[in-house]
Amino acid sequence: MLLDAAVTTRCRRRVHLEHDPDAGRSTGATDVEDAGGAVLPEPDPGVEMRLADAAEHRAALAARFAQLLGASYRRVPDGARGERVEATLALAADESVAALGAAELPPGGGRRGHAELLVRAAGAGGGWYPVIVVRHRVSDPGNGAWTSPLARPHPSAATPDPERKVRAVARDLLRLAHLHRMLAAAGLGVPSGPAWGGVVGLDADCVVWTDLAAAPGGEAGRSPLDTYDRRFADRLAVATAARTGAPALAEPSRITECRRCPWWPVCEADLRRVDDVSLVVRGEDALRLRGRGITTVRALAALDPRRGLPEPVDTPDAPAEDTGLGTDLREAVALARAWRSDVPLVRRVGRPEVPRGDVEVDVDMESLGEDGAYLWGVLLSGADVGLAHGYRGFATWDPVPTRDEARSFAAFWAWLSDVRARAAERGLSFRSYCYNEQAENRWLRGSVERFAGEPGIPPAEEVEAFIASDAWIDLFPAVSDSFLCPHGKGLKRVAPSAGFGWRDPEAGGENSMRWYRRAVGLDGEEPDPSMRERLLVYNEDDVRATHALRTWMTSDAVLAVPHLDDLRAEPDRTVA
Ligand code: SF4
Repeated sequence: MLLDAAVTTRCRRRVHLEHDPDAGRSTGATDVEDAGGAVLPEPDPGVEMRLADAAEHRAALAARFAQLLGASYRRVPDGARGERVEATLALAADESVAALGAAELPPGGGRRGHAELLVRAAGAGGGWYPVIVVRHRVSDPGNGAWTSPLARPHPSAATPDPERKVRAVARDLLRLAHLHRMLAAAGLGVPSGPAWGGVVGLDADCVVWTDLAAAPGGEAGRSPLDTYDRRFADRLAVATAARTGAPALAEPSRITECRRCPWWPVCEADLRRVDDVSLVVRGEDALRLRGRGITTVRALAALDPRRGLPEPVDTPDAPAEDTGLGTDLREAVALARAWRSDVPLVRRVGRPEVPRGDVEVDVDMESLGEDGAYLWGVLLSGADVGLAHGYRGFATWDPVPTRDEARSFAAFWAWLSDVRARAAERGLSFRSYCYNEQAENRWLRGSVERFAGEPGIPPAEEVEAFIASDAWIDLFPAVSDSFLCPHGKGLKRVAPSAGFGWRDPEAGGENSMRWYRRAVGLDGEEPDPSMRERLLVYNEDDVRATHALRTWMTSDAVLAVPHLDDLRAEPDRTVA
C-alpha cells in the first residue's frame, strides 16, 4: 500500500474509507454508484477547477524554470509512474543535472510522491532538496522569510527577505517532509545540514525556504518532520487496518471538513444510523461529549443543562484533555432538542437585531474561483432616491479573467456610490447588506487592486472606508447571534424560515459554476445565453433572500421561532 502526502492532512475516517475495499466509491461525473446504501455526489466543479488551475500554474512554472536555468535543468518526461521513476533516477545520476523537474520518487515505506522540482545540494555527499509549486500565498508582507530568486532556486542562494514573512501552510510543510523522507529512503537525500524544503506560491516570484527539522509551527511546537512522522505512521495504520479488514481505527465524526468531503453521504448515513452526537455538535465538542458518556443526539437532548455535564467516563474516544465544552451546554442541548423535533431555527435572543436604513441595498457577488468576479447583483429598496427600486446585475460576460471586469465593477461601484450620495443629499440613512462578507470584501479589495487606474475604479482607501463603515452590514453574524441552526447557517438553509424560496430548484454555488462555464463558453463550446439568464435569476434570488431574511428578522413574525428555553426535553428520558 502506498500513501501520498495528502493523507497527513486528511480526516482519519476518510483515509479509512479510501482504503476499505467494501466502501462505496464515486467513479466520475456521470457514473455515481451505490456506496453502502448512500450515493456519493458528483465531483465538486469547484474542486475540479482548482485542480485544473493548479496544473496550469505548475506547467507555467516548469516552463519558467526551463527558461531560467538552461541546460542544468532537465524535466522528467510524462509517462507511466514506473517510467517516470526510472527517468528520475537516471537524471539524478547525471552529474550535469543540477535541477530536476517533475520528479517521481521511488515508492517505498508506504509512500509515493512527486516533486515539482529537485535541486542538487552542493559539495561532497550531494543529494537533493525538494521544491513544490502551489497555488496559494506562501508569504505575507513583512520580513524574515528565507527566500531565493526563481533563477537561483537553491537554499545556498536564500537570504532573509526584507519584504516578506513566511505564511506557513501545514499541508505544504507536511508534503515537503514526505518528500524529504522519500528522498532519504531512496539514497537521494542530503546527508547533513538543515533539512531544506522550498515552496513557490501563487505569486511565483521567489522560492520560500524552510528547515523542516527546525522550524517551529508544527503540532505542540514540533518540527514539521516530527509532526509528519507521527501523522504518517497513524494514517498508515488506519489505511492498513481498513485494507486488511482489521477493526477500524477511525470512526466517522462530523467535523468542518465534512462540508466538502465526497464521503459525507456515507458518513452521514452511518452517523444517522447511530444518532451520533456529532450530528449537532461537531469537532472537539463531540469528542468531549463522548468522553462524558453522551454519544447520541437523544442523550444530549435529554440532559438538564442546569446540572452540567456528567462526569468523564473511561472511553478510548475521550480527548486527552477534557476542558469542558467550547459550546454553551444550554445551547448544545437546545440544538439536540431542535434536531430531534425537526425545528429548523431556535432563537437565542428575545428579539433579533439588524440595523436598518431609510435606503437599503442588498448585494451579492458571483465569482469564478480566483479568476474574477463576473457579477455584482444589487436590490434597491426603502425610501425613494429617484432611482428604480428592484434588482440590477452588473456583469461581464467576457470569460474571466478579463479586463472587462474593470468596466462592470466600476459600473457597480458608481451605482452604489450614487445611491449613497442621493440618500445623503436627502438626509436619509443608508445601509447595504450581504450574507457572509468574506467573499464580497475579498473581491471589493481585489478589484481595486487589480484594476487600479482603469476608468471608474475607486482608490483602495475609498473601498476600505466603505467596508469599515456602518453602511456595510454582514447579515451572517446577525443570524449567528440570533439563532441556533441545527442544519447549518447557510443562506439557503436559513432563508426558508423567513418564507423565501429560490425559483431555480437547482440553485447553489457549485451549479452556478457549471452554468457560468456554459454561459461564457469556457469549455470551448458556443456561449449559452440561457445560462446567463439562469445566473441572473439565481443572483437576484440570493439578494432577495437576504432582503427577505433581514426584514423578517426585524418583524414580529420572527417571534414565532421557538426560543431556546422553550424547547423541553422529551417526556421519555430514557437514554440509549
Ligand atoms: S465526511 Fe467527514 S467524517 Fe466522513 S470521511 Fe469525510 S471528513 Fe471524515
